[in-house]
Amino acid sequence: MPIMKCQEIFTIGYGGLSQDEFITSLLQFKIECLVDIRELPISRKQGFAKTALKERLKAEGIEYHHFRMLGSPKIHRHEVRETRNYKKFFSAMDKHLTQSQAVEDINNVIDLSKSMRSCLMCYCPNWEKCHRKPVIEVIGNNIAVRFSHILNGQDHIELYHQDDFLKSSNTKSRRAA
Ligand SMILES: [Zn+2]
Repeated sequence: MPIMKCQEIFTIGYGGLSQDEFITSLLQFKIECLVDIRELPISRKQGFAKTALKERLKAEGIEYHHFRMLGSPKIHRHEVRETRNYKKFFSAMDKHLTQSQAVEDINNVIDLSKSMRSCLMCYCPNWEKCHRKPVIEVIGNNIAVRFSHILNGQDHIELYHQDDFLKSSNTKSRRAA
């Protein structure tokens, strides 16, 4: 069988982390490029609004890129918060991600991840209930990639290979309680 080069892309949710803890996690996993995929790069949490975060990352030698179109549109975000209907949320996201600007941004993320160890960021601690899931699914449809989810406040990561990824939707998270 031919050996295919497999890229690795990380994801992280900053909910529950202080800015220091967040930065420590990124450094621990040698992240070189943070990819912010919040629709609006603002936060009530100190240190996570775009400017503050970008400055801190720069000081740590980590690049920052924001892709608005890879964020979940407010209408879907608010709906899923009410209904907890993730199936509907993810299918709305799948549709959203077919728009040309979103496709372009996906390609930009893929390019960044080729030259730098990159990490996708959203607020949500649990990637399985976050729009990171449909985003990484689309990326995984385009390139051979292994996703690693950096767990909040813990020293280890969960690895999902491309093939495992689809299966993982039906399995329980391996995260320790
Ligand atoms: Zn999220």
